[in-house]
Amino acid sequence: MGVTESIKCNGCGAPLALKAGEVVITCEYCGNAVNIASGKDFFLKHSMIPSKYDNKGTRDLVKRWMGDGPLKPSNMSKRSDITEMSLVFLPFYIVHTNVTSNYEGYFTRTGENKKRHGDLHREYYWKVLGRRGSKFPTKEYEIPLAGKEEFNLSKIPSAAKYLNAEFDEKDAEDIAKVELMDHQKFLIQEQVNEISRIDHDFEIEDIEFVHAPVWKVDYQYNDTDYQILIDSATGDVIRGDIPPPDQSVGGFLSDIKKAFFGK
Ligand SMILES: [Zn+2]
Repeated sequence: MGVTESIKCNGCGAPLALKAGEVVITCEYCGNAVNIASGKDFFLKHSMIPSKYDNKGTRDLVKRWMGDGPLKPSNMSKRSDITEMSLVFLPFYIVHTNVTSNYEGYFTRTGENKKRHGDLHREYYWKVLGRRGSKFPTKEYEIPLAGKEEFNLSKIPSAAKYLNAEFDEKDAEDIAKVELMDHQKFLIQEQVNEISRIDHDFEIEDIEFVHAPVWKVDYQYNDTDYQILIDSATGDVIRGDIPPPDQSVGGFLSDIKKAFFGK
């Protein structure tokens, strides 16, 4: 596609702001989602999880998290400086699918050589982040889907941004299948540690597109940069870097005390 080519929103007629690599664009004027690969409206249901934490609320969450838990340096909350905070709505595909994996193999872990076969059936709501090469820890993030609503631009705070998806639902389905085959295999290895054959059968129920709010908080401790990711709907820390223990003797002793007495 040429750089000069402009694509208009099917919902309101405004030109869409195209960024390299993005495929499913949500119009910044009306919130309509368009698949620019096909030029058609994106037919999936588009939902969002509203954000509950503003800048101040998120700072409070960070303070509380830093002061809590025996693995953290005791002076962490006092000595850390937040250097940057941003609220981003990330685009996820939720692939609802049934998977049946038929397997055959041997169980040799106890020294025997038992031949086994069977079916492993599971139902999944598998998350696929619609961005390529992202380091976001998708597996550690429970999207609070119970709170989802229809996508509505007016519910995205003005200081926040949302990201468009870099591939569409067909690619998301393929990615989910590859990840699920791996996951099913991992589960089956409990039964059969030497798999000789495995066939997966997928029944895709539906795929949904959801923008979910995540705070990215950068902070400094002892001149080193760390990062915390917070679910802005629940306030849960999705993943937070913890600095290594304080190296000074005083710090060491107070860390030990904290580990034992929790203070
Ligand atoms: Zn529009």
